[in-house]
Formats: sequence, C-alpha cells, structure tokens
Amino acid sequence: MNENLLNRSLSAVWHPCTQMKRHETLPLIAIARGQGVWLHDFDGNRYLDTVSSWWVNLFGHCNPRINAALTDQLGKLEHVMLAGFTHEPVVLLSERLRELAHAGLGHCFYGSDGASATEIALKMSAHYWRNNGQLQKSQFISLQNSYHGETLGALSVTDVALFRDAYGALIKQNATVPCPDWREAEAGESAEDFALRCAAALEQHLQQHHQHLAAFIVEPLIQGAAGMAMYHPVYLKRARELCSQYGVHLIADEIAVGMGRTGTLFACEQANISPDFLLLSKGITGGYLPLSIVMTTELIYQAFYADDTARGFLHSHSYTGNPLACRAALATLDIFAQDDVLNANRIKAAFFNRIAQPLREHPKVRNFRNTGMVWAFEVDSPHADFAQRCFSLGLQHELLLRPMGNTVYFMPPYIISEEEIQMLVTRTLSIIEALS
Ligand SMILES: *Cc1c(COP(=O)(O)O)cnc(C)c1O
Repeated sequence: MNENLLNRSLSAVWHPCTQMKRHETLPLIAIARGQGVWLHDFDGNRYLDTVSSWWVNLFGHCNPRINAALTDQLGKLEHVMLAGFTHEPVVLLSERLRELAHAGLGHCFYGSDGASATEIALKMSAHYWRNNGQLQKSQFISLQNSYHGETLGALSVTDVALFRDAYGALIKQNATVPCPDWREAEAGESAEDFALRCAAALEQHLQQHHQHLAAFIVEPLIQGAAGMAMYHPVYLKRARELCSQYGVHLIADEIAVGMGRTGTLFACEQANISPDFLLLSKGITGGYLPLSIVMTTELIYQAFYADDTARGFLHSHSYTGNPLACRAALATLDIFAQDDVLNANRIKAAFFNRIAQPLREHPKVRNFRNTGMVWAFEVDSPHADFAQRCFSLGLQHELLLRPMGNTVYFMPPYIISEEEIQMLVTRTLSIIEALS
C-alpha cells in the first residue's frame, strides 16, 4: 500500500519546492494521519512535526475543537461567492480581527494563500496612490533576503536568488534595503544599534526615492525563509516613523509571524506600531485550510470608495472568504481566548529555553536564538549536504526537521508538551553530534 502510493505520487504529483529527480534516492513519506504534534505514516512510524507543516499548524493535527467547528459549518454552508453575497463566518472573522488588531485596521480583504495576500497589498497600495493622482508612486522596497511569496508580483519583493533567477525576465525590478538581522552586526555592536544603523540606510533610500515608492514591505521581527533571521523591534518603530514621514505605505507581512508566533498575537505589537497593511495567512486557520487576509485602514478604504467602478479595488479569487476556512479561523481564535494561549506559550518558551541550554552551549552550535515560539541556530558541520542529512537522520529519530542550509529551526505547534520538548532537544543533540 505504502510503496504503491509513493510510486504513484512520484508519477502523478509534481511536488512543490522540489527537484523531482532527487526522489530517485530520497524517499517520499506518505502520511496516513495526524494527531496533535505527530504525523503517522503507513508503516507505523511517527514524526514530531517540529515545523508545523510549513509553519501553518498552531494547535495540532486533527484538533477536536477545529474539527467540530468545521463539521458544524459543513452542515450549513460550504461556500458562496463573496461578490454580492456575504455569510456569517466572514463577518464574524472580520469583526474579531478588527478588534484584535486594535490599530485602525478596520477593513479585511480576503485571498486564498499568502502570495495572493502580498499581491493584493501591492496592488492596493499602488492603486491607492493612483486614485490620489500620484501615478508615479508604483515602486516597492523590501529587505535584503526577504520572502513574500512566489507568484510574479510577490517575487518582485522577494530577495531569494534561487526562487527568482529563473523568472528574472518576468519580474518587476524593485530595490532592497539592508536587513537588520543581528547575525550581521559588527563585533561589539548590539542588535538594537545595528537595527538603528539599518534604519538609517532605509531613511537614506526613502529620502532619495520616495516620489516613486508606493510601499515598503517587511516581515516583522523574523525573516522566516532567510533562515529565521531575527531582529530588534526598534527597526519597525523607525520604519513606521520614516514611512509616515516620506509618504510610503508600510506593509507588515505577518503571514508567518502573526497569530502568536513571536509571543504577541501580531509581531507589530512588540514595536507598538500600526502598519498600513497587515497580511495574515498560514496559522490563521490553525493550519487547516488556505485563507489569507489583508487588513487595512479607513484612509486606504476611503480612497477606493466612489461612484466610479474603476476607482474600486476589483481584485478577486474564486474562493475569496471561503466559509469553511473562515470558520476554521474563528475556531482558532476561540482557542486563543479560551486557553489563554499567549500566556501559556510564554511559560512553554521559558521551559524550552531551559531545556535547550545544552544546545545553546554546544561547541558546534552558533547564533542560538529564540523569539516567541521560534527557535533557530546554525550548525558547524563538515557535510556540504547538511540539510539533507539532518532531515534523514531526523526521521530516524522520529523528528520532522527541515533545516535551511546549516540553519536548524523549531517552529512547533503550540500544543507541544514538556515531554515532547525534552525529546525534541535530546534527539536533536544526538543528530548534531552525529553530523559534526
Ligand atoms: C509563506 C509566506 C508567504 C507566502 O505564503 P504562501 O501561502 O506560501 O503563498 C509570504 N510571506 C511570508 C513571510 C511567508 O512566510
């Protein structure tokens, strides 16, 4: 059954982010079911999902409360188009998010995945300036090593050569500004000072180019795909001030870092700022269904509100505001409230850091870092194919680890238990020993 399924998958399914030829030697893993932090294959093996299945899962696989909400919703309404129609889950979700973001982000526009949220924000920002008669404001800036998705518009603000280069001819050229990742600080320079130095570079860029700039898009506090690069919140504070000063929108891409990942519900809260656009996806449905949301302000909303159809924001996706996805998001927000999740995570993260002390102090481990429920570090290893070996050894130790280069990271579902944290750290130590 298992063997058969793997071969059929390799023959019929073109897997994402994968050189398919690799699978001549590297086995696929067919997952039969999930339960809590565990994924179970067809052969009786289990794997601790330390990466929350590409950063989406918050409260475990097959969560009984989310399952119950979806089952109830299935009996009522699976989908209806959102143009000209509305439904209860999308209204409730928009109102709940408006309250939670309590920063004047009163209007929710819906998409289907993270990249579509980026597209929507870029289009909405440029269209805002156009509606204001400033047609020349159509360029964007992002941080070095940024990641905002892989559709063509999103790639134009994504600074990952491997994902971009093949499509260079199709992509609009946008500039990047220095990234405040503290690993790049000078010796003796604090993370905060380095962030301020990078903010000064941003100021210089804005000074020179603001007439042509629509928006600055940023991953608040953690640049995920850059290898969990972390930076000081003062950068966001300065970025907000500078964007306001120079009349450039600030887009906070909280697709990966929102929904409590950094310790607060939204990462922007730690800099006490409010962006012009806040992007949510990934964890918003607890990892159940594709959904993305672009939250924006009254000012931007009003610039589109007119008798003229062409002044309106005419973007659409077939599954915009899908009721099942919105209901999963509501159930996810219910769990946050009912279980006081942010406080529970604070305690859990402190426990994790105590248990992870031997990792932090391991002679082959560098830059051990933590923000909220994300941990990352680099491993000195003689193996050029470290990531591949680490992944394979991880599976043998019942861990789903998916290093980026030599960066190992943990981004577990929030329901991970103390026992599972202990197991994760102990086994990761064995793997590092074996690979260094
Ligand atoms: C994952 C991610 C995206 C893209 O989301 P998809 O659903 O994969 O299209 C955009 N921005 C950030 C910061 C992400 O981590």
